[in-house]
Amino acid sequence: VFQLSVPLNFLGSVYRELRQSLLDMETLFNLQKVNVAIKESPDAKPLKLTKGGEITFENVTFGYHADRPILKNLSLTIPAGKKIAVVGPSGCGKSTILRLLFRFYDVQEGRILIDGQDIREVTLESLRKSIGVVPQDTPLFNDTIQHNIQYGDMSASPDKVIAAAQRAKIHDIISAFPDGYQTMVGERGMMISGGEKQRLAVSRLILKDPPLLFFDEATSALDTHTEQALMSNIHNVLKEKSRTSVFVAHRLRTIYDSDKIIVLKAGQVAEAGTHRELIDTGGVYSELWSAQETLFDQEGEARDVDVNN
Ligand code: ATP
Repeated sequence: VFQLSVPLNFLGSVYRELRQSLLDMETLFNLQKVNVAIKESPDAKPLKLTKGGEITFENVTFGYHADRPILKNLSLTIPAGKKIAVVGPSGCGKSTILRLLFRFYDVQEGRILIDGQDIREVTLESLRKSIGVVPQDTPLFNDTIQHNIQYGDMSASPDKVIAAAQRAKIHDIISAFPDGYQTMVGERGMMISGGEKQRLAVSRLILKDPPLLFFDEATSALDTHTEQALMSNIHNVLKEKSRTSVFVAHRLRTIYDSDKIIVLKAGQVAEAGTHRELIDTGGVYSELWSAQETLFDQEGEARDVDVNN
């Protein structure tokens, strides 16, 4: 009996560990929404950011189903080190642009280049290591808050983890939990709000410190004021180093001060320019802005945006 139970106990613990690591893999795959259809080219080379991360879409056509294109012959340039916003009506393909850049999918026609390199010709690892994403909904590992932030850089010291959380404005919240950074989160841990999750994602990102940064604004995770506080925080972090950053936004107030605003409509660029330029043009953006401002006023919130800038 003894001889049998020892190996069985041993197997039990191996099984538990294996199960946990499979769960973690599952989270990781969900986290990266890895599409197994994407294959690395046999002569893929590491991505080299020789120009600081300039992104170009060259005549890109893409649809999740080939007969229903979402992006149609789309061409756009995101200059290196600049803060760019992509806006447009719901379903026009804003998030799709980020998914294509991360290579969850390949384009059907055209090319996507980063510093002149077709992303299908670089290694997936080097591509994804260069990109940091704050997705609409941040999946968390069934693990401690510490681990969840540290996932951005596994070699980071606990002090660095705290510093990142402070900059993402979540340190005080974490410190107030009885178990602090050792609090378990994820499906089997403590429930935390969408806004807190998003700030954990920002902490992770600050720790990873990638050269390219994508932020997919959630429609409802944060109220406007918290979102603006978080955004100005991200912008401060960005200002310290010049990072190419792309913000997919629903609320124009969070992005009106971008270096360039790209307005998508029906899978193509309808307009592009600064806030001022687009307001002067009096087109799609200007209409969206007026509509949102009217809504904002009706909600009785203070107007704190100087549109003359
Ligand atoms: P929103 O502002 O509502 O977040 P969006 O502009 O970011 O929208 P996308 O998420 O890029 O829009 O989606 C563009 C279109 O592609 C939508 O019509 C959507 O239904 C469709 N779509 C998105 N993901 C998939 C998918 N995995 N499979 C099939 N269709 C999809």
